[in-house]
This record gives sequence, C-alpha cells and structure tokens, in this order.
Amino acid sequence: MEANGLLITFLAQMGVISFALTFCSFVRDRVRGKQSVWRLIVSGLFFGGTAALLMNMSGELIDGFRFDLRIVPLAIVGLIAGPIGAIMAACTASAARLWLGGAGAALGLLGIWLACLVSISGHFFLKRGYIRPSDVLLFSTLNAGIAFLILLVLPQTVRANLSQFNAQYTLLALNFVGTLISASFVRLDQLRRESAHLNELHSQIVSALPDALSVKDLDGRFLIANDPTAVLMGATDGVAMVGKTDFDYYKPEEAALFWKQEQEFLADPKPVVLEQQFNRNGRTYWLSTVKAPYRDERGELKGIVSHTSDVTAQKALQTELISTQVLLETAMGEMADGLAMFDREGRLVMWNRRYLEFFPYVDEESCHGRTLAELLSAGVLRGDIKIPTTVSPFAWVEDEVERSQSAQLSDLRLSDGRWVSKSTRLLADGGWVTIYSDISDRKAAIQQLERLASKDGLTELANRRIFDRSLEVAFQESRDTHKELSLLLIDVDHFKSYNDTYGHPAGDEVLRRIANVLHSGCRGDMDLAARYGGEEFAVVLPNCSQDEAHDVAARLANAVRQLEIPQVGSSKGRVTVSIGLATTDELMMGCQQLLKGCDEALYAAKSAGRDRVRAATAVLGRSLAL
Ligand code: GH3
Ligand code: MG
Ligand code: MG
Repeated sequence: MEANGLLITFLAQMGVISFALTFCSFVRDRVRGKQSVWRLIVSGLFFGGTAALLMNMSGELIDGFRFDLRIVPLAIVGLIAGPIGAIMAACTASAARLWLGGAGAALGLLGIWLACLVSISGHFFLKRGYIRPSDVLLFSTLNAGIAFLILLVLPQTVRANLSQFNAQYTLLALNFVGTLISASFVRLDQLRRESAHLNELHSQIVSALPDALSVKDLDGRFLIANDPTAVLMGATDGVAMVGKTDFDYYKPEEAALFWKQEQEFLADPKPVVLEQQFNRNGRTYWLSTVKAPYRDERGELKGIVSHTSDVTAQKALQTELISTQVLLETAMGEMADGLAMFDREGRLVMWNRRYLEFFPYVDEESCHGRTLAELLSAGVLRGDIKIPTTVSPFAWVEDEVERSQSAQLSDLRLSDGRWVSKSTRLLADGGWVTIYSDISDRKAAIQQLERLASKDGLTELANRRIFDRSLEVAFQESRDTHKELSLLLIDVDHFKSYNDTYGHPAGDEVLRRIANVLHSGCRGDMDLAARYGGEEFAVVLPNCSQDEAHDVAARLANAVRQLEIPQVGSSKGRVTVSIGLATTDELMMGCQQLLKGCDEALYAAKSAGRDRVRAATAVLGRSLAL
C-alpha cells in the first residue's frame, strides 16, 4: 500500500475515534451523577460499535493483509467505563468480527480480547482517580504490544510478506500513535472535567458566601464580584459589575479614598484588614475589608482580592456598648460609696475610684485578680486597717472573708480614724459585690450619744446608770479574781444651806469642782468616779484593800477641803465632804450589801461631825480618825 493511502486510512480511522471520544465527552458532560452499570454497558456498546465501524473501514497494509485501529477504542473504553465497558465493547466487536467472517476471524477475535485485557488494566489507572502521562505511555505501549503478539501468530507466508516491506513496524507504530492520541484525549478530558468541577465548586462557594467577595485588576476594575458585593454596592448583580470601578457606585470622595487605600496596598501588597465607611441614603455603613494580592501563575501581581463584611450593626452595638460603659464608669466613679466586685474565687475583678480612696494601700496597677484575703492582710499589716488588739491578724482576715462570702455586715476602722461599713450582696455565679460606705459621722454621732447616755450632764462624771453597771461588773470580777473591791460614797456637807446662801447656780459650780477633784484623785483608769445622785458621789475602787481605800478617801476629802470654797453656813467655814467606805469580804453576797455598808459608814461620818471618812468596819467598832 502506498504511504498516502495508509495515512488516509489512519486519519479516517482516527477521525472516527476522535468523533467517538468527543461524543462520549459531550454526553458525559451532560449526564451527571455516579456512573451506573447501565451507563457502563452503553459506553461499552458504543465503543464496541466504534471498533466494528473501524473494522469496516480497514485499509490494505500490504497485499492480503488489511489493518484497522479497532484495538484503540476497545482499549480506551477501559479508561472510561472500566471492566464492564471493556467486556461489553469486546463482545460487540467480536460479534461484528464473526459477522464479517473470513480467514482471519480467529486472529481478529484474539486481537479483540487481548485489547480487552489492556482495557481492563486501564481500569486500575482509573481507580487511582487520575491518569498520569506515564500511564498514557504505558497503556499505549501495552496496546501496541497486541499488534506485536498478533504478528507472532500470523501464518509464515503473511509474516514473511510483512517483513519484506517492514510493515510490522508500521502496524506497531500506527496502533501506538493511535492509542497515545486517544489516551491523551481521555486524560485531558478528565483534567478538563475536574477543573470544570472545581470551577463550579469555587463559584458555588463564592456565591453562597454571605460576605462580599470580589477581584479587581490593577486599575480598580472589577474582574469578578459575587452577588453580596452587588447588594453592598447597589448594583443589579455581580455580573453587571464586571469592568466597573468603585467610582461607578460610591460618591467621588469615598471612591477616591478607597482608590487611595488600594494604591497603598498595591505599593506593598501584603494581606491587610481595613475598616471602611461610606454613606448611602443618609445612612453610614461600616465595612471590614480583607485585601489580599491576586497574582497569576507566574506570581506576577494582577490585582486585588477583597473580602468585605458589612459590620454596621456590630459597629452600632459597639458604639452603644462603649457609651454605656462610659456612663457606667462615670456613675461608678462618682459614687459616694466604694464598690468592689469579687469573683467566685474571691478575686477582685472590678472596683471604683472611691474604693481606692478608702484603701490607698491597694495598688491600682496590680490589684486586679488579688484575693480579698490578700488585700485585707496587706491593709492590716501596714496598719491601714485597725483591728481589735485581742484578735490575731490572721484570724481577723479569715473571719472578714467569711463575713463577705456570707453577706454579713461589718465595719472596718481605718488608720486615719474613719469608719467604713461593708455591705455585701452575693452574685449568682458565686462572686459578690461589696459596697463600702464612710460611716465615720454616724459612728461619731453614736459615740457621742453613748457618751451622753453614760455621763452626768452637770459634772461630766459617769452617771448613775454607768455606776450601777460598773459596780456589778467590778463586784463580779472581785469575786472571780479574789481581789478586794472598795467603794466610797461621798456626800457634800450642809449643801442645802450652801444653796440657800449662795444660790443654786453657785451650788452647781461647787458640785462641778468637787467632781473634778474626785476624777483627778482616782488611781487611774481602773477607778471610776460617778455622780450617785444630788450632791452625792461614789468612787469604785477595784483591787483595793480597805486601808488603801481609806487613804484614797482621806486624800479626796482633803482635796475638797483644799479647794477652800467659803461657806458661812458651815462650822468649818468652807465646803467639805463626808465619805463612807466599804470593802468586800468573802461573805458578801452582792454589791447591794457593799452599798449598804458604805451608806451606813457615810451616815456614821455625818453623825461623827461631818468632814471625815468612816469605813464600814468602823461602824462595827473600829474608828479611824482623820
Ligand atoms: P448634810 O448632807 O450635811 O446632812 O446636809 P445637806 O444639806 O447636804 O443635806 P440634804 O440632803 O438635806 O441636802 C442636799 C441638798 O443638795 C438639797 C439640794 O438642794 C441640793 N442639791 C441636790 N442636787 C443638787 C444640784 O444638782 N445642784 C444644786 N445646786 N444643789 C443640789
Ligand atoms: Mg445628801
Ligand atoms: Mg449633804
């Protein structure tokens, strides 16, 4: 056969194969979903039919030996429809070959089924999911090998004939090239389909995104934009935006600003997050935009990818939050009371200015997260918080924390003399809020009231109520400690006559001066001088024997005398006092007995001529002259 005729036959056969492959690709693009068995069978029949057509288009290679490319579609079908397709194609082709009949039918069938084996091997490339160029080469070599095997089993005469013209190489080459072209087509078609699938996936992702996604070229023209971008910019849809710029949608000054930002980005194209704003229909919109460089496959900068979220609602919320926070902070800062919030672990998490004023030792920089126990301990150790001397600082801090955690009220005394009351409210999460109020004024008023309630208004000595209570306590203590307790009852002599002579106000002044003398004549804090009633006074002398008490009494009587307050109505010519004293003994049942003894001693002192001291024992016989 002439080379021209051979080429025409080859091209005609390749044309049929190409048509079959293109048709198959066309159908596969339209029929989606998983390949069903029926589809595999139909594919097999189609490629088997193609092989049958090729058999009918065979050309003469040499005299008595015709050739065609039937094994090409029979092998290729395995790359498309797997073993099922391969077998179906082989069956179809076999039927066609048998129908054609002739001397070479057996060899023809052998070739068909060898091609079927190659076709099945193609399935393994498919199973991997993709076909490599080396697979195409291997596959083509295998298929060309079939032609070689057939040559081996050809009758001797035909083989000799073929060798004479070196036609066996032509046969091998045609089959190899035919398979190579077809397998490459299938590979490229597979790549195209995958890339189309990937493209579709990408565009689905982009259109499903709630945020605006767009790509612009270096001149700021939209290359692609999804629908949310169109909504954001007031365009009809993403497609309509292609080729447009920000100047087509925003006010000139806004678009100019965006342009400037993009130019800055292009000067140093690293991904950035920008906050942008624009106005439309009198409303301000806030955008958060991520800009990233768009580069081609060679890495050359081609534009900008923008991912934009409308953060107007968040921005409004944030502004509202900030203004609420400012309001809250102002309110807290201006509060007259201190406020501190502790979490469930007892750690300080929030406080106001007034709190720090109360506790200046609390370091504002580092107090966050400190526990109440740590804060109180620091205050106590520095002496800024005064605690009763009778308790240990450790125990006091522990009790104070316990009081806070159980929302009990308590008062703290500060080093500058101020009193702070703590009232605590427990929170649902286990923490608590404490309000610290300055109660110094209230505390002072209470103390003043207490003082007033315990003091005699005229003489400022302890009043009768305090005297009664103190005597009870002192008597009990003397019992418990087995120490003697002495009591003095002091009565001003002839005081009625003093009033009569000098007037009541002068009498009051005398009482004040005598009270002063009594107060300063006491042995110290442990003694208590009180106004017993009218012109009578009493002095409680704990841990004091009768002799000591007598000394005290004599000293007091003398001190009054030394005041030298003139009194014409008295034989002494001056104001004097008579003093009765009594001291406890083991047999005494209660302080009433002591009082009674004292009273009797006073009576005795009066009876004995006034201006003297008499002890209760003196009533029983022993007299102590002044
Ligand atoms: P003696 O005790 O020496 O027996 O004589 P006396 O004059 O002091 O006795 P009496 O108990 O009869 O009088 C007490 C007087 O004390 C009567 C009352 O006017 C006077 N007196 C009582 N309380 C006050 C007071 O608060 N102010 C003044 N100025 N006088 C008072
Ligand atoms: Mg009296
Ligand atoms: Mg008197």
